Amino acid sequence: MVCFACAVCKTGFGLCRFTELRDGDVKSCWCLEDKEKRDYQARQVNKISARDLRKIYDDRTSIGITATLSKWGITKSTLDHACKDKYSRLTRKQINIQNEIYLLANVRGVKAAMAKFELNHAETMTICGIARKRKAAEKAEAIAAWVAMPESRKSAIKTIIKEGRSMIRDVVEQATGGLEAQPWDWYEEGRYWGELTIAEYSTCGEYSYFGWAVDVVRALPEEFAASIFGSSVIQFIEVIKQTESGRAGRRRRYKNKISSIDTPLVKRKRSPAAKMSGKYFFPPMGSQDIVAGISIYALAA
Ligand SMILES: [Zn+2]
Repeated sequence: MVCFACAVCKTGFGLCRFTELRDGDVKSCWCLEDKEKRDYQARQVNKISARDLRKIYDDRTSIGITATLSKWGITKSTLDHACKDKYSRLTRKQINIQNEIYLLANVRGVKAAMAKFELNHAETMTICGIARKRKAAEKAEAIAAWVAMPESRKSAIKTIIKEGRSMIRDVVEQATGGLEAQPWDWYEEGRYWGELTIAEYSTCGEYSYFGWAVDVVRALPEEFAASIFGSSVIQFIEVIKQTESGRAGRRRRYKNKISSIDTPLVKRKRSPAAKMSGKYFFPPMGSQDIVAGISIYALAA
């Protein structure tokens, strides 16, 4: 026997009799033969329409391999190749859709998920398997990250969640509580109904009591944010939207007004009393770290 470096793939090594090499019976380390086989199977699979491929995939699990082969007149290799192809297509489905399918199958049954997403049984089960595996991996990763996290950070995350819950609930009440409700800092600046004040949320300036909460809630999926910070989050999101559209509208109207008169724009100075005070909770870390920490906490704890 001789060992030779493969001239085809340049990385593999082959083992054969010297005469086989000399006579050209062996050309590669098998990479060439494997590639030809793969190409051949790929061509066979390409001949199958997407519709038939779905049926074949379903048949393999419902009626078994042998029956599927004779029903469709294909070889075992083609079937394997076709199923691998189908599997990788299902893997590429959007992750949030995979999760929806998994959730629906768990809550209302596989048939409900099949009907809603127009999938056959095998497709549904495969997607559920992929989603379950991914969730398990995410959970394991989160647990490891939570265990490795310093105690000070863990307790900071828990405090942020606790304080965030009550802050968000309170500010929604303040923003939408009606005219008789006393807005926070009402003596510093007035509040438009259903909106946050500049002191509570502003993208510029040196203080923004709820700026961090706005960033965090926005970075998380709505339902997840609500499960962490309570159902007030849904209204909080509405308040943020209204704040931004309200401000944009007023800015537009103001610009139109000042463009028609010939007066220079005087920038108003903020009262120093309205500066960030110690009476509101302020998190000891940035929004990105909070989002990461909360995600780990929610999965691991
Ligand atoms: Zn090779």
